[in-house]
Amino acid sequence: MTTGLNQPLGGNSMPRFGGPGTMMRLPAQEDARGLNACFVGVPFDIGTSNRSGARFGPRQIRAESALLRPYNMATRAAPFDSLQVADIGDVAINTYNLEKSIGIIETAYDAILEHDCQPLTLGGDHTIALPVLRALRRKHGPVGMVHVDAHADINDEMFGERIAHGTPFRRAVEEGLLDCGRVYQIGLRGTGYTAEDFDWPRARGFVVVPADECWYKSLVPLMEQVRARLGKGPVYLSFDIDGIDPAFAPGTGTPEVGGLTVPQALEIIRGCRGLELVGGDLVEVAPPYDPFGNTALLGANLLYEMLCVLPGVTYR
Ligand code: MN
Ligand code: MN
Repeated sequence: MTTGLNQPLGGNSMPRFGGPGTMMRLPAQEDARGLNACFVGVPFDIGTSNRSGARFGPRQIRAESALLRPYNMATRAAPFDSLQVADIGDVAINTYNLEKSIGIIETAYDAILEHDCQPLTLGGDHTIALPVLRALRRKHGPVGMVHVDAHADINDEMFGERIAHGTPFRRAVEEGLLDCGRVYQIGLRGTGYTAEDFDWPRARGFVVVPADECWYKSLVPLMEQVRARLGKGPVYLSFDIDGIDPAFAPGTGTPEVGGLTVPQALEIIRGCRGLELVGGDLVEVAPPYDPFGNTALLGANLLYEMLCVLPGVTYR
């Protein structure tokens, strides 16, 4: 390449099983200076309610990303032709203190956004969406959101705590971080305590698409509706890997049966092309429950697909 832009290290220059441990074996840098987009890890799992382990997500996603090549054969996206991208490492959270960690993450994302860089986050549990959305609101105002998940994550409290991986979008609504008429939640399912999980977000203006409404179908038509509704204005993409069925993504903390398929996940992300995406996350990959690495491999691919639909990407 002669673009002067960072390129992932190719498999013909260094074997796939060697080389740097960065996302896609991209160059590493300390901060987001000069970048259009960055991969950034948040090794945080002290907000989990069941199995922990997502603190190991960023490292394992990076390891599995070594197989990713730069060109998207299906969509013709060539993200490294037009965007300057690097891996800026992990946010140094305080694993002994959830509240302090939230502040550390907010500060880190304020710094990323100061450079007009679009962050793609390797989680970490879903708690981290709250500080990311706080930083995004300061930069862009309230954002629309495409949220893929088995769970609505709109609990008011968990074990009496207001910040946990099941509460980020309740807090986000209360704090005015979301443009509530421009939010889709896709893939929700499983057992609950009351109907509130689906009714509360709908009463706020969210569109909730439960998993069973997605079964046996292509989600291309759904994404046409998403693009029509989210239209103009900033959009955040928050992807909890447990939105995918545990048959494909077992390595996660709160698995629920009857989830989305991998092709549907690709349709959702590819269907975000044309939206004014301002960042995205891939959360809840828990490597201790991922013995063959396929959950992290899927996470790495989904993050690459997010990169491929950012504004400014070239197609060839
Ligand atoms: Mn979640
Ligand atoms: Mn979930």
